[in-house]
Amino acid sequence: MERIVERFLHFVQIDSESGEEKDFALHLKTILESLGFDVKFDQAHEAFGGTIGNLIATKKGHTSKKPILLSAHMDTVKPGKNIKPIIKEGMIYSEGETILGGDDKAGIAAIIEGVNQIIEEDLDHPDLELVFTVCEEGGINGGKHLDLNLIKATEGIILDSSKLPGEIIVQSPGQTRIEVTIHGKSAHAGVSPESGISAAQIFAEAVHHMKLLRIDEETTANIGMISGGKGTNVVMEELKVLGEVRSLNLDKMNEQVKHMAFCFEKAAEKFGGQVTFNSELKYPAFNVDPLHELVINTKKVFEEMGISATTTFTGGGSDANALNARNMTMINLGIGEKKAHTTEEHYAVSDLILMSDFVKRWIIK
Ligand code: ZN
Ligand code: CA
Repeated sequence: MERIVERFLHFVQIDSESGEEKDFALHLKTILESLGFDVKFDQAHEAFGGTIGNLIATKKGHTSKKPILLSAHMDTVKPGKNIKPIIKEGMIYSEGETILGGDDKAGIAAIIEGVNQIIEEDLDHPDLELVFTVCEEGGINGGKHLDLNLIKATEGIILDSSKLPGEIIVQSPGQTRIEVTIHGKSAHAGVSPESGISAAQIFAEAVHHMKLLRIDEETTANIGMISGGKGTNVVMEELKVLGEVRSLNLDKMNEQVKHMAFCFEKAAEKFGGQVTFNSELKYPAFNVDPLHELVINTKKVFEEMGISATTTFTGGGSDANALNARNMTMINLGIGEKKAHTTEEHYAVSDLILMSDFVKRWIIK
């Protein structure tokens, strides 16, 4: 079996759900040290919890080119424990009870294999920096708190998109999370409903006037969860609402958030209730110029491999959002992951090999 496949199968069998990456991180440290890297961990997890910080591996190069960064995340979504990978007709699946963990261990395996080949073949390379983050899923927390003092590179690639190899993500929206509590007044629904204020009615009125889902080509908004009520015989006193707004454009995002707050407040006023409205920027948008040297060079590498390369955008967030917001230039590359975040997640052996070949060529380009 190819070394990369063997490693990948081993990687996914070391549990690393978000916040529990330590065992996997220490395994990577051993491999990277055997390849001559200096491996450090930052203290990012102190900001949000977890067993270990981001892994930062550096190796001096032979060329005078500027240092380059390659990144992927170590954590997985749930259910990610006791993963048993199986290969069927060139495709790697989980047994069906868990995710596979190819998001993002396929990215990590491709980076390590590409680097391994360069070292084996003693090829010249610039200063290399590998960053394997923690807690990317559900908040991009590792990337947000990455200790940039441990890094010299200012640009690089992230291997963490389910798009196809050759698809280069240069744009992704930011996201604001919205939390609303609607305060009404309880009353016996049969005896004296007129003395109550229904949080349900306030909610309905607010949503009736609210622009939601696709707002424009750059902006989306959603109310994803609501909960409230004590019984059918009680006028609903309180209703909690969770939602989000995403946009490539920060002004538009803020405008939509304001609009939603306004709808809730107006509706509460109409029925005599109140609202508590909270919003929090989860991560900002990122926009890399498709004509940036990094993008052009990355495209060239794919084209040399006979793969058509295109720039594109994604609605999902990644470490690219966190790192671009921190004055780095990072693009996120499609690695061909299928059905990530589900128990049907799978990944082609051929894509794993292709992406490691890409990494090798990209580094020595
Ligand atoms: Zn991912
Ligand atoms: Ca993911």
